[in-house]
Amino acid sequence: MLRAPRGTNDILPPESHKWAYIEALLRRLSKIYNFEEIRTPMFEHTELFARAVGEATDIVRKEMYTFKDKGGRDLTLRPEGTAPVARAFLERGLAGGPLPRKLFYLGSMFRYEKPQAGRYREFVQYGVEILGSPSAYSDAEVILLGVRIAEELGLTGTTLYINTIGCPECRKAYREDFLKHVSDRAGELCQDCRERLEVNPLRILDCKNQGCREAVADVPLMQDHLCDDCRRHWAALQEILTSLGIEYAVDPTLVRGLDYYTKTVFELKWPPLGAQDTVIAGGRYDGLVEELGGKPCPGVGFAAGVERLILAAEKGERPLMPEVSIDCFVLFPDSEDRRIPEAGFKLLVDLRRAGISGDFDALGRSVKAQMKHADRLNARYVAILGEEEVRQGLVTIRSMEHGWQKQVPTGQVVDFLKEEVSGGSS
Ligand SMILES: [Zn+2]
Ligand SMILES: [Zn+2]
Repeated sequence: MLRAPRGTNDILPPESHKWAYIEALLRRLSKIYNFEEIRTPMFEHTELFARAVGEATDIVRKEMYTFKDKGGRDLTLRPEGTAPVARAFLERGLAGGPLPRKLFYLGSMFRYEKPQAGRYREFVQYGVEILGSPSAYSDAEVILLGVRIAEELGLTGTTLYINTIGCPECRKAYREDFLKHVSDRAGELCQDCRERLEVNPLRILDCKNQGCREAVADVPLMQDHLCDDCRRHWAALQEILTSLGIEYAVDPTLVRGLDYYTKTVFELKWPPLGAQDTVIAGGRYDGLVEELGGKPCPGVGFAAGVERLILAAEKGERPLMPEVSIDCFVLFPDSEDRRIPEAGFKLLVDLRRAGISGDFDALGRSVKAQMKHADRLNARYVAILGEEEVRQGLVTIRSMEHGWQKQVPTGQVVDFLKEEVSGGSS
């Protein structure tokens, strides 16, 4: 038997109904916040991610699905969504159009990671980006959408963590201060962090290793090194959140390691998820578009793993239990008299044409077995066409919810069920 590749996931019914539900919810909220969908290719030139995500990151160093195609091009299955959106924004002329541009994406991403519960090598991310706005109101807008998603999923008790990482301008001075402080304690750092010291020192702040945590416990804070512009932005964001009564905590260890990530960083965490409790993570990337060869253009956004959103929702106050049912099961015996199956199948076709969801037993089983099948499909009504019914031009309708049974003239069945299904009588 052939098996699916390690780290991939088959989403089967009824699980797939949860996916459809959550995707519809994300699209509905995107619309309310006026984000429009963008769909970018599943693979890009490897260079895009090397530049936009950063050569020094774990994603680019260890986790990308990179390959050469038959033309010798270096390609990579997208490991994240922001870089492709920024690339398309530039390449397709959106950067020259009306700004800001508010886009969302929903699709598969690929990372060669160790598969764990709820973590796959192909996974689905939802994300939003606002390109072309330097305003702290745009930061607030994406944060509010993230908070709203958690609310609608029934996740109570989330905590919003925010931080500022300044801009390349103010970070230069800070980095020196930081390095001076941490270099003295380099011996306490883990192997990864000793490497980070060279390439990406601020990332030491978010290392989970105990020794590293202690080494940076009393480092100077970025907040105290901000330039005027960054300080104003940071104050404005907090004022907006406070004015709306949005609770937040400032977490100075929230960082992004690369120069084009600027100012705001945020995460929404939900403790019942345990060690991997971040449901939404985002921030500002005012230098990214320029890094990709465009004119300077500010941006802010977030991403959320849909697998984790589903996992969280299942543990939340509103577990995802979409009702899976059909409106009507059409039951007819597989009779020698062809008029019976013909009438039965025609009724099913007519019901479906009228927008009533329905099914039948294609295997020609006994009436008893068909009733069982109707039950399994969670049919709300069963329309029965036996020999007697067909002879009299009637159909027996049984309500599975209420237990009643009525005989309806064949020509009136579609209207009768339409009325019933839309919640007419009981
Ligand atoms: Zn600054
Ligand atoms: Zn470390």
